[in-house]
Amino acid sequence: MKNKKTKIVCTIGPSSWDYSVLKQLALAGMDVARLNFSHGTHAEKAAQIVLVRRISRELDKPLAIIADMQGPKIRIGQLSEELLKAHANKLPGGQQEKGRNPVIILKQGEKIHLSISPISDEVPMYFDLSPFVKKGHRILLNDGLVEAKVTEINGKVIVAVVQNDGYISSHKGVNVPDTRLPGASLTPKDYEDAEFALKAGVDFLAISFVQSPEDLKKARDLIKKYSPKTKLIVKLEKPQAVENLEEIVRATDAIMVARGDLAIETDVAEVPLVQKRIIRLARQYFKPVIVATQMLESMTENPRPTRAEVSDVANAVFDQADAVMLSGETANGKYPVKTVKMMNDICLTVEGHTEYKNYVGIDLEDVDGKELANRAIASAGVVLAELANVKLIIAGTVSGKTVQSLSSFRPQADIVAICNDSEIRNQLVLVWGVRPFDIKIETQAEAFWNHALELIKKNKLASKNDQVIILSGPVPGVGGQTDTLKLETL
Ligand code: PGA
Ligand code: MN
Repeated sequence: MKNKKTKIVCTIGPSSWDYSVLKQLALAGMDVARLNFSHGTHAEKAAQIVLVRRISRELDKPLAIIADMQGPKIRIGQLSEELLKAHANKLPGGQQEKGRNPVIILKQGEKIHLSISPISDEVPMYFDLSPFVKKGHRILLNDGLVEAKVTEINGKVIVAVVQNDGYISSHKGVNVPDTRLPGASLTPKDYEDAEFALKAGVDFLAISFVQSPEDLKKARDLIKKYSPKTKLIVKLEKPQAVENLEEIVRATDAIMVARGDLAIETDVAEVPLVQKRIIRLARQYFKPVIVATQMLESMTENPRPTRAEVSDVANAVFDQADAVMLSGETANGKYPVKTVKMMNDICLTVEGHTEYKNYVGIDLEDVDGKELANRAIASAGVVLAELANVKLIIAGTVSGKTVQSLSSFRPQADIVAICNDSEIRNQLVLVWGVRPFDIKIETQAEAFWNHALELIKKNKLASKNDQVIILSGPVPGVGGQTDTLKLETL
């Protein structure tokens, strides 16, 4: 099977956490398993980590694990019987769907009271917003479906006027796009979850609702303390993050375009443009970027996606994302394996078409010093591959940077990364077009070249008389020194 360049991230949940389904996901094209810490217990997550590692070994296919922190996600609390009775409403059509949470219908113009410690008919909240929201701010209830405008703040009670008909139920998400929340995007729960995940050796830690580069510091400290090799993913889902985009991209190791919350918190019509801007910046700074949420949403229930969803995945590939992500589709959907197959098929189809542009230049004008040499030699390697029609670029890498730099130009050639350890190998799984291998790196340039060529032959990555390009330094295995570009015929 042809290797796709765009990587697939699958969220693991009840639909996919048993051995045989997970293995089928890996065979169907999953590269990265995402553990969503908004749900489930540490015991469940520990079992999933063991399973992913086992399947990776059995299939001899590197798989990365992301531990995704819930962050300061604001939610509606448990709606009390008293409150439900006070409203005594039903779902539109007068029917209460089976198994669904009881709901409260809200009408445009209605006044509601929101409180962290509710009495009588106040709507309960899990988070005390009263110190932060101001008159006129929007409070979006039920994942953006109901908009309310703040008119008054009485102590801890927020009074707001409903702007459109809709309904709310217990535990639904709340967004406050106009409000700057206090820094620190890690909650006490996140601290516990991050410590657990880092001790379990996950490859990536993802943090939610980041607003500024300062929000990364606490996560960096935890990583340093518990698992220094783990890399950090910032989820971009707040307008404040979009304002500080470039600094955040520079400060993090990888990025997620978290369109679920982003589309609620910002103008939804701008999300496709923000997606393109984020991907361009991520390539500029050679950091992997994931496009997430609702990519094949309808496949949670149906065996076939909508046309719009197929276009959405295809366009993320056209946009040059490193990876596309599935959430509920694989976590609790009815067709997890079918969904991954579909996504894999869309990626391969787009990548194989002439409309799909490989080799995308990057403006290196603002890059300087040591970084410029790295960027320039990677760029030269890619140009050489394009002009000489070379199918494979091989690079030894200690930190992963050389390989990420090569990938950021999105070459036609596949990139083979020769890594020193399994952590970097796993992390490079997320990077566009890269096939990472973990073998001992020879420290003599000549021995390294020969060893690399053996690996290529052994894994049948190229055939006799094919040309390959090898990037290496004077002492392979010592990072940051790439100075040699070698064109070799097998
Ligand atoms: P979530 O993040 O699924 O954890 O909310 C992704 C998003 O908001 O798109
Ligand atoms: Mn989110």
